[in-house]
Amino acid sequence: MKSIAIIGGGAAGCFCAIELKQRLPNAKVTIYEAQDKLLAKVAITGGGRCNLTNSFRDFRDANGQIQSLEYVYPRGHRLMKRLFNTFSPVDTVNWFESKGVKLVTQEDCCIFPQSQDAMEIVHTLERLLKQEGVEIRTNRIINDITDLKEDIKVVTTGGKKTEKGYEFLTKLNIETEKPIPSLFTFELSDKSIKSLNGTVVNNVTLSIPKTKFKSSGILLVTDWGTSGPATLKLSSYAARFLSEANYKAPLTINWLSKTQEEALATLKKAIAENKLKKLSSINIEGLTNRLWNHIISRAEIREDIRCSEVGTKQMNKLSAILTSDTYEITGKGRFKEEFVTCGGVSLKEIDQNTLQAKKHPDIYFAGEVLDIDAITGGFNLQAAWTTGYTVASSISVE
Ligand SMILES: Cc1cc2nc3c(=O)[nH]c(=O)nc-3n(C[C@H](O)[C@H](O)[C@H](O)COP(=O)(O)OP(=O)(O)OC[C@H]3O[C@@H](n4cnc5c(N)ncnc54)[C@H](O)[C@@H]3O)c2cc1C
Repeated sequence: MKSIAIIGGGAAGCFCAIELKQRLPNAKVTIYEAQDKLLAKVAITGGGRCNLTNSFRDFRDANGQIQSLEYVYPRGHRLMKRLFNTFSPVDTVNWFESKGVKLVTQEDCCIFPQSQDAMEIVHTLERLLKQEGVEIRTNRIINDITDLKEDIKVVTTGGKKTEKGYEFLTKLNIETEKPIPSLFTFELSDKSIKSLNGTVVNNVTLSIPKTKFKSSGILLVTDWGTSGPATLKLSSYAARFLSEANYKAPLTINWLSKTQEEALATLKKAIAENKLKKLSSINIEGLTNRLWNHIISRAEIREDIRCSEVGTKQMNKLSAILTSDTYEITGKGRFKEEFVTCGGVSLKEIDQNTLQAKKHPDIYFAGEVLDIDAITGGFNLQAAWTTGYTVASSISVE
């Protein structure tokens, strides 16, 4: 019977091992894990709550079929779409529920264990590994896959910060894409925006001028720049571009996610309804007073001006700032230590149905070691479950 080595005991490795043993009960499956325990990262996912998948509601067509995944997986969207035919987000929900984990779907489509405790996921996977008889070797760093005696090797070593982390693959002539971080916050040079520290704006659109990179969602202004879902998404879409630009680039904020004409109409209406009031005191589409005053100051309009005094030129300027307010990104921060690696094993190196290395039929890949990564929302763990499952089902049919 086959012996299978799994290198890396994270989400992808453990999931793959359980599935393998359920399909091939007589196979000897061993997980080699560098650390002293399995699933260390899963334990801290989702702020300790583990956002293990997503309903993908916003990416489905009228028939409930998942459409383009470009906005979810900036790297690997075609492959993920294909692999969802093998193991989809619905399969993930069914899998965990069938193992006794009750799940809840939040309003924002993120799916968590009902217990709100990532350790429930860790303990469930550990219980299944034990139940299925998977051998566990912790404190075992594998630097050379060829040293392993097993018939098949599944590489699930996760993302790495530097190219050194993939050296063991280069030795096998397996090409990797340079690893760089994704999911980070932006440091901005402009001091005035930092005075808005703590401001939350519900639906902004961020873009990098002269590029295709754009994202929408909630923006949080911090004391160093910007954070929140819109920023993290843009950092993911533009991860390679920003890395090459040494994290220096312009950033345009559309505070209302509207066209300039629409913003102008909104502005005119608000001004007409509040003629006697000071411009600084009126309410524009839920923007906080602090932010509105910041925009007035960016438009170089007097603080104490009354609405009745605001002329066409000033309205145009205000609508331009509301929809196209440009700052300079001067660096990146990390999102509460949470980031994923953009880069890893080039998808050209693997069979798109089985995740088997084209050059080495005895080697398979799953999880973040592959050049697949997603925005936040449970999509990265979904990639680990889907790719782990795909490898297990590919080996079992051989
Ligand atoms: C703080 C944080 C929070 C996150 N929250 C979420 C979330 O809520 N939802 C979500 O979808 N994603 C989240 N992510 C991303 C998600 O955790 C990862 O994408 C996912 O864990 C990747 O799984 P993996 O098994 O491929 O890699 P990992 O989980 O990184 O596992 C790889 C394992 O391989 C081991 N290893 C590495 N090299 C070797 C070697 N040479 N020999 C032996 N073992 C080795 C490592 O020690 C590790 O245990 C979060 C990430 C972080 C950092």
